[in-house]
Amino acid sequence: MKLKKTRKARNCYSCKSSISKGDLYGQKSIALGTKVNGQTETAEGMYTVVHQMRIPVDMCQVCLGVK
Ligand SMILES: [Zn+2]
Repeated sequence: MKLKKTRKARNCYSCKSSISKGDLYGQKSIALGTKVNGQTETAEGMYTVVHQMRIPVDMCQVCLGVK
């Protein structure tokens, strides 16, 4: 996961904490809608084709597991 420096204030999608200007953040694709049983979870860098829309969300370093 490559982190970027944000040029504007953002909010972490996961923990809802704010990411201030100049802080590092990452973007992750999440699926919109409810997960269906038997659907494959997203694996490292690979996305299974599902009948869902994927949108990029902002996440802080903590939620991305970056130290
Ligand atoms: Zn977070």
